[in-house]
Amino acid sequence: MSNFDIKYMEKALELAREAFEDDEVPVGAVIVRNDEIVATGRNRREKEKNALLHAETDAINNACKALGGWRLWNCEIYVTLEPCPMCAGAIINAHIPTVYFGAYDFKNGSCGTITNLFEMPYNFKPNYKGGIMQEECAELLKSFFKRLR
Ligand SMILES: [Zn+2]
Repeated sequence: MSNFDIKYMEKALELAREAFEDDEVPVGAVIVRNDEIVATGRNRREKEKNALLHAETDAINNACKALGGWRLWNCEIYVTLEPCPMCAGAIINAHIPTVYFGAYDFKNGSCGTITNLFEMPYNFKPNYKGGIMQEECAELLKSFFKRLR
């Protein structure tokens, strides 16, 4: 597993802040290949009225378009929150070999918290590491939900 680069998590956080300003749960994602950003994504569920538009699926969609294929091998995904079952499944289906995430998700996290889809015997098993810039990522989510109340 390659080493993560904090600048990509910072970029993912920037996208999460953009989501926040758009009244979306602040989660951002960046897909990197050969030390270059190939796609970005952020939560767009409310605006697009679409349950499928989490940060990761938005980024995967954009990466498939940018790279002209569904197999995102040689890519890394950076996401500010632990992927949910849908997004962990999308990562497995896109064959993304490396996943870095920030905050842990105690309600939906499917990469170690509630369950761990990345440790199950599917046909593809990504490497992953959580807790990167965890405090910043969690703090942003906390302030979003505080504002809602
Ligand atoms: Zn998700």
